[in-house]
Amino acid sequence: MQNTENNLNQTKSQINHAADLYSRPASNICLLAVSKRKPSGDIREAYRCGQRDFGENYLQEAQQKIQDLADLDICWHFIGAIQSNKTKVIAENFDWVHCVDRLKIAKRLSEQRPDSLPPLNICIQVNVDLEDTKGGIALEQLPALSQQISQLPNIRLRGLMAIPAPSDSVESQRKPFAKLREAFEEMQKNAIECDTLSMGMSQDIEAAVAEGSTLIRIGTAIFGERL
Ligand SMILES: *Cc1c(COP(=O)(O)O)cnc(C)c1O
Repeated sequence: MQNTENNLNQTKSQINHAADLYSRPASNICLLAVSKRKPSGDIREAYRCGQRDFGENYLQEAQQKIQDLADLDICWHFIGAIQSNKTKVIAENFDWVHCVDRLKIAKRLSEQRPDSLPPLNICIQVNVDLEDTKGGIALEQLPALSQQISQLPNIRLRGLMAIPAPSDSVESQRKPFAKLREAFEEMQKNAIECDTLSMGMSQDIEAAVAEGSTLIRIGTAIFGERL
């Protein structure tokens, strides 16, 4: 059996180490445990170890887990691709959505967010290196889209998210993250109150922290390889 507690502690100490290195308070960096393709029992075990934020990519399995774990005080993040016919389920079941890249999706999420729940937290996904296989808007589209999304009533624009193409040195990994950080600072200058930079995965934690990440998304290093 894998040791989730050990894995979580190791991941947290990697984040703490990077935070120290770049003189940032580790308390400003949230660890999102990505639990896609992992059973509810694994999430319950991570929760027992103090983990509260979990990320899911596939709606059907996520809905089942959210039901199974309704007794726990989990903050659920949707980090998968969003189809417009699935926005209602997302708006009703999640606290955060990280991959918004169209106004149409944001509008639907806002319209479908139940009044009984607080506004849905949203990050706009940016395709920083313009890989055509990937979701996300081009940086040039950000000023218009962020203005429009920030006006919607039942969602709260919290910041930006990106998944840059892999590269192997910290220096080269920092470049796309720096672009995202600059775009984020520009949004703040334009009076959009945002506080979240969702960037960094297991291979680029240090670079992401160096460029101001506030949320690191880690799956395999916590829960083991996925089938
Ligand atoms: C799967 C996934 C992760 C986690 O990936 P691992 O390699 O398992 O750590 C992070 N972010 C997103 C958007 C993902 O889809």
